[in-house]
Amino acid sequence: MTNHRQSSFRRILVTKILLLFVPVLLIGEIVALNKARSSILGTARQNLTQSAITKGERIGDAIAILRTTLLSVSKTTVIPSDSPIQEQEILTQLRQQLPASIECIQLTNLLKQKIIASSCGDQAIGELTLPLSSDGIDVKAIFPLKAGTTGKRNTQNQLQVVLSAPVSDSRKNLVYSLSIQSALYQQIKNPPGSLTGAMVVIAEDGTILAHPFTDWVGTNINQHPNSSKLKSIIKNAIAGQNNSINLSFTQGHELIAGYTAIANPLTQQQQQKWIVLAVTSVENALFGLEEIKLILIVLTVGLIGASLLASLYLAPYLARPVEELRDYALNIHSHHAAQPVPHNFQIREFNQLAQALDQMVERLKAGAEELEIAWKEAKSANQIKSQFLATTSHELRNPLHTIINCIRLVEDGLCDSREEEMEFLKRADETTIHLLSIINDLLDISKIEAGKLSVVTTPLDLRQILLEVINLQSVNVQQKGLQLKCELEPQAIPIKADAAKLKQVLINVIGNATKFTDTGSITIATEIQHSNGKSQVVVIVKDTGIGIDPTQQHKLFRPFVMVNGTTSRQFEGTGLGLAISRNLIELMGGSITIESAGLHQGTTLKITLPLIDISLLPVPKKEENVGDLGFSSVNDAAKTINCVGWVEERNPTFSRVCWVTLKFHPTYDYP
Ligand code: ADP
Repeated sequence: MTNHRQSSFRRILVTKILLLFVPVLLIGEIVALNKARSSILGTARQNLTQSAITKGERIGDAIAILRTTLLSVSKTTVIPSDSPIQEQEILTQLRQQLPASIECIQLTNLLKQKIIASSCGDQAIGELTLPLSSDGIDVKAIFPLKAGTTGKRNTQNQLQVVLSAPVSDSRKNLVYSLSIQSALYQQIKNPPGSLTGAMVVIAEDGTILAHPFTDWVGTNINQHPNSSKLKSIIKNAIAGQNNSINLSFTQGHELIAGYTAIANPLTQQQQQKWIVLAVTSVENALFGLEEIKLILIVLTVGLIGASLLASLYLAPYLARPVEELRDYALNIHSHHAAQPVPHNFQIREFNQLAQALDQMVERLKAGAEELEIAWKEAKSANQIKSQFLATTSHELRNPLHTIINCIRLVEDGLCDSREEEMEFLKRADETTIHLLSIINDLLDISKIEAGKLSVVTTPLDLRQILLEVINLQSVNVQQKGLQLKCELEPQAIPIKADAAKLKQVLINVIGNATKFTDTGSITIATEIQHSNGKSQVVVIVKDTGIGIDPTQQHKLFRPFVMVNGTTSRQFEGTGLGLAISRNLIELMGGSITIESAGLHQGTTLKITLPLIDISLLPVPKKEENVGDLGFSSVNDAAKTINCVGWVEERNPTFSRVCWVTLKFHPTYDYP
């Protein structure tokens, strides 16, 4: 039954795969992105620190080169003292000797304090301040746009220095001063993603010497927000740390700065430091992350798509066998017997499941068939039982009527003679015995059904028992014109059995053989078998009678079963004999089987019983004949001791009866 809260296997597969996969994927990607971000930032910090160190070194190198160049130019330049100074000539001479990057060259007459030649106007760029340093050069830093400075604002060239050196005239008097102005560093716009960073140079006293914001150049860090962070940078750098830090010069604009400290290149004194920072925005530092983000987005979309496709492909692949097996199981009642369970799936477990289902269905079918057969049999047995009850009632009433009539005839003195009276009494007696045998069978079967049938076994000679039974039955056999063949063991056959019950069984089976055989013979044989250290005797009762259909043979030992109702009803019987016989033989530790090659091919019945040691047999009594018992004739003996009848055994030496065996009904309680 479908529950609305349940979902189909297919849908569960798709949703579970996606529900599991997508969050895992997204979490994985977020983790990867964070890892990549921190890794890129770490690399950026290292690069910026390195860049700051390189920048610091470049500043030192640039000033050193300028110093050397100016020194050599000032030493080699001689201004003629007697001839008029040709400005243009001097400038041309100096330009040739100095690097092209120099922004301004000025030659000043120190005595007259007058600029005699300049490449950048009349405004003095620097004064020679005495005393000079050891190398004779005066170096000053200037800021690009000092108050009052005219000219084009150059926002790129920063950290400008003016170097001045004395120049002598032809009389070797230091009359002139040569000043050069040069930018040590150009703020260039780095390409996106570059990790060299913009340069910020801060003097130890907090003066900003270079900064991407030109307005800040020349100001002190105290004038700006974030001064505390910058102060800590200065402190750390002076303490010798080359490191990086996150800072923010403008509101909300996150920056990363690598920093280092260099000796003040102007004074060349180690105690006075310049702090060089390489600064870039966090956004720029994470420029590479954008590409990773893009890759991750493409990857996510691709993987979700792939997982969707995989789950859409997998779901039917996995669900189809389940659905097919479900459909088969749901419609099993409407399947034709030949329709096989779906199989040949690509998944082994499903094939095993299909095989198990197939076996289960087969078992159920077989069980159902067996049940149906058993039910039919039970039904027919019940019918037979009912029929039997009806017949038995009838059968019981007839003999009873006979008995009553016979007795009344004698009682009412309607007989003509004593012989006639005896004849009626004999008939009543025989009928009573017949009635008794029917009732005994009924009692036995009811005992079997109640599990109360019991035997009392004693050691006995089977051969003797068989001879007695054969004697009893031989009259019937002869009456039917059948040949009786006895192939018994020549010596005693010791077994442990209940003599009366064993005789009952043997009478029944030999009686059946006689009853169901019209022509031919009945063979009664014994066979001693030794196997697995056990010895047993097999009593074989073989006839050439109507035989039994092999398909019916298995049910013969069930009570009230007669192979073919119509066939068997031709013969007298209750269908109880074999059922009783099997129970009795099994109680005596033996077994009984019946087999026939088919209808009209005769029947062979075998009773197997275990042998015992022959020494256990009782010593046989001397056989007494009728005369020994004090009777003048067999008839007298039979009448007097109320026996059923007698059997004549022919002695080959005499043509008349030599001895008789009195035939007692086995279960009759004789007085
Ligand atoms: P019944 O009283 O009918 O003989 P049994 O239990 O002795 O009952 O036998 C059951 C049935 O088995 C018989 O009705 C008969 O159909 C079959 N049967 C038994 N013995 C023979 C035999 N020797 N030949 C053919 N059928 C036999």
